[in-house]
Amino acid sequence: MSELIHMKNPLIEMDGDEMTRVIWAWIKETLLRPYIDLATLYFDLGLENRDKTDDQATYEAALATKQYGVAVKCATITPNDERMAEYGLKRMYPSPNATIRSILDGTVFRTPIMAAGMVPYVSAWKAPITIARHAYGDIYRASEALLVDEWADARVDLVLTRSDGLERRLLVYDFAEAADAGGADGKGLAGGVVLGMHNTEASIHSFARSCMEFALSRGENLWFSAKDTISTTYDRRFRDIFEQVYADEFSERFVAKGIEFFYTLIDDAVARAMRSEGGFIWATKNYDGDVMSDMVASAFGSLAMMSSVLVSPEGNYEYEAAHGTVQRHYYRWQAGEKTSTNPVAMIFAWTGALARRGELDGLADLVGFAQKLEAATLKTIASGLMTADLADISQLDKKEALGTEEFLQAIAAQL
Ligand code: NAP
Ligand code: MG
Repeated sequence: MSELIHMKNPLIEMDGDEMTRVIWAWIKETLLRPYIDLATLYFDLGLENRDKTDDQATYEAALATKQYGVAVKCATITPNDERMAEYGLKRMYPSPNATIRSILDGTVFRTPIMAAGMVPYVSAWKAPITIARHAYGDIYRASEALLVDEWADARVDLVLTRSDGLERRLLVYDFAEAADAGGADGKGLAGGVVLGMHNTEASIHSFARSCMEFALSRGENLWFSAKDTISTTYDRRFRDIFEQVYADEFSERFVAKGIEFFYTLIDDAVARAMRSEGGFIWATKNYDGDVMSDMVASAFGSLAMMSSVLVSPEGNYEYEAAHGTVQRHYYRWQAGEKTSTNPVAMIFAWTGALARRGELDGLADLVGFAQKLEAATLKTIASGLMTADLADISQLDKKEALGTEEFLQAIAAQL
């Protein structure tokens, strides 16, 4: 065997829980350590250690990511009542991903991993579509009210109060007036619903910058869509900020990279996406991203083949698989059964992080290794060797479902 590849700066490594924690160790042992003198700063985000450190492990890992710039994360349990009992936790810790996201102020990009035999349901799609969802505000941080019975004749205003006390009121809707004008139908159907939502200048700017950084790193076009013809202030502000950030900070780098940024209406973006060949990044507002990311994920085939990366506006990257800890498989594995859990998105989290680290540190051999490992993984699947979840949906004629360890061995042989 030839010499190991050396690294200059360490990756921030965040270990996790359950089946993905088990596979995490196998990936390092089978696919990484034989080739790389792997340098990581290790943080144990497994639930037991989060409990032991009062969640300091999560904070420290996020801060280290800010310092070093590239992290790779295993899936982690987000505690709920059952987990409180199962692990005897001191308290209900927040989701590590939410903690890390708020410290890095990042945007999450989800990209399907395409392999031979996995045919997207949309026949035009030849390359992955990455959804960038703005994960702050709008209806996810809103105040809502149901106005019926004694509130059915309410008048609803948006009241803006400045710190010096000056007030401005914008009428949202006057339910009483609507009823007087015959809006209620006499069968008690008066009143309705209202919603007040917000977003912030800082968050929209960060979102725009993260999307543009990510488009540059992938060398793919960036679309941003909203509904500024109807929402001429709110959505218009998103559009204006994107266009301004682009013009002020990114246009030259985009031109040099040969990629484009454009804004289009959400309806036009949906129609264009369906007819496209894929291979672009689609930045969406919070709700649009929530919906479109599920559509794109299922149209490309499988949650286990979905990679995810958190990108901060300063260009810090945290790579992970989009799936969770695969709890059901873990209980079977604990009981001594062999499982066929798909490690592909986890492998791609490592290759994404290693390639990024290699690019930042000018290590062509590290970047090259990451590319070879991705190619070997896809070639293994193309040769008909895969995990059970893929064998179920693969359209290859010759296919065989392997256990996770055999599948990793097959990739190692290919590599
Ligand atoms: P999950 O771990 O994604 O698994 C849901 C189901 O999807 C599995 O039971 C399995 O189906 C299938 N699946 C997911 N990944 C797979 C893989 N790599 N290979 C094969 N099949 C796969 O979601 P969950 O069961 O809802 O959540 C489990 C734990 O993960 C929870 O504690 C949750 O908090 C955590 N979670 C963490 C993250 C994160 O850290 N990013 C994200 C989501 C959830 P079958 O059992 O039918 O084979
Ligand atoms: Mg959703």
